[in-house]
Parts: sequence; C-alpha cells; structure tokens
Amino acid sequence: MAEATRYALTGIYGGTFDPIHYGHLRIAEELSDILQLNHLFFLPAGQPRLRNAPLATGEHRLAMLREAICGNDRFSVDDREIRRPGETYSVETLQEIRLEYSTKKLAALCFIIGADAFIKLPCWHHWRDLFELCHLVIVNRPGSVSINDSSALPDELRHACQSRWTGMADELKNWPFGRIFTAPTSLLDISSTKIRNIVTSGKSARYLLPESVLNHIDRHHLYAGEK
Ligand code: ATP
Ligand code: MG
Repeated sequence: MAEATRYALTGIYGGTFDPIHYGHLRIAEELSDILQLNHLFFLPAGQPRLRNAPLATGEHRLAMLREAICGNDRFSVDDREIRRPGETYSVETLQEIRLEYSTKKLAALCFIIGADAFIKLPCWHHWRDLFELCHLVIVNRPGSVSINDSSALPDELRHACQSRWTGMADELKNWPFGRIFTAPTSLLDISSTKIRNIVTSGKSARYLLPESVLNHIDRHHLYAGEK
C-alpha cells in the first residue's frame, strides 16, 4: 500500500506586537511542540486596516521582537509587512509566502490566530482565500469567546468553517491547507494594551514580557504619555 502524503508544518504568527509579550511567546513555544512545527515565523503587521495604527514604529516593534526571540532557534521574524509601504492584507502576504513555499513540495503553512481575532475574520480582505493557502490554528484567550463552542461564531464564519475542523494536531499534516484546529494552549491574560497602559501610568510591567523588551521600551521612552 502506498504511504499517505504527509506535510511538514511551518507556523506563521501574525500580529502588531506593540509590544510582543509572554502571551505571544508562550503560545508560540507550546504550538511548536503541539504541532511539531519545523519552524515558526512572527509576522509583524505594517499598517493594519482594522485597527488604530500601532503606537511604536515598525522599526521598534521589529527590534523588540528580535530581542524577545533571541536564542530560540525555533523562531524567526519575517519583516516583509513592515518593509512594505501602505496597508497590510494578511491574505496577500500569505499568497506571497505560499508562492515561495511552492518549491518545497510537502510544506503546509499554519496561520496562528487568537480567538478575538478569529471571530473578526469575515472583516478581513478576501478572508475565504485563506482556506486555500494555509491551515488556521486558533488559540483561546481569556476574555474572548471560547472557540470550542462554535455556536458563538458569527453565522458566516461558522458556515465557512463547518467542514474544516480537525480534532487532532497530527491530522493537519495530512492536508496542504484548509483545516482548522483549536490548540489546547495555556490561557494567559496578557495583552499589549494592558502593557502599554501600565507603562504609560508609570507602573511596572515586569514579568509580563521579556526583560530585554522592557529595557528597549525604557531606553526609547516608548508608550510614555500615550494610550
Ligand atoms: P493589543 O492589545 O494591542 O491588541 P495583543 O496582546 O492582542 O495586543 P496582538 O499583536 O494584537 O497582541 O496579537 C497578535 C495575535 O496574538 C492575535 O491573533 C491575538 O489574538 C493573539 N494573542 C495576543 N495575546 C494573546 C494571549 N495572551 N493569548 C492568546 N493569544 C494572544
Ligand atoms: Mg490584539
């Protein structure tokens, strides 16, 4: 009997990372194990369409990401959205990455997304195209709806996802794209908004994010006097 095709998985973790924190980092580390990822890229957004502009510049957000992942060879940063002028569309970036991966025959991309961002997926530019480009890996987040209860999803999203849910991480390797998996990762109640507010108010944000990132924030007076 012929061996079933198996795809090697690469994780892509998009976000504004304004700043990166232990919520992001711990999720990325756990997913590297749960999904047995070959590698994971953080993909900081340039100018997102769906939210206010990040407070820190792209250069600062990139520098903080690099500080944060320093010494972890499972992670790297893809800076293409920061380098690109104008608005950022995740779907277009994923199309570009997918094209680069077309030379690697048995490679599949896993786009990692928090529950709060996932329920807003129908607002994304050409969001249904994502299912032809990558798998979606959803992580639950304190304070956001639980993705385990799909009745909490907007109708449009629930229908589009209906036949795509996969119960086991290992099954993602059987498909080149188009499956959705909710990962059993730790619930960490940390957000960049909370950190920015703490820094602005002059209190300590220590232990919510790496010391090296906090030093970068202090050195460059980021988030001081703004919310
Ligand atoms: P902000 O408060 O500025 O929105 P954030 O903490 O949500 O920042 P983002 O850069 O917006 O961070 O998030 C990038 C991705 O990481 C999103 O998909 C988001 O849902 C997810 N994420 C962020 N923090 C966590 C967390 N603590 N647990 C799980 N997912 C998270
Ligand atoms: Mg967010």
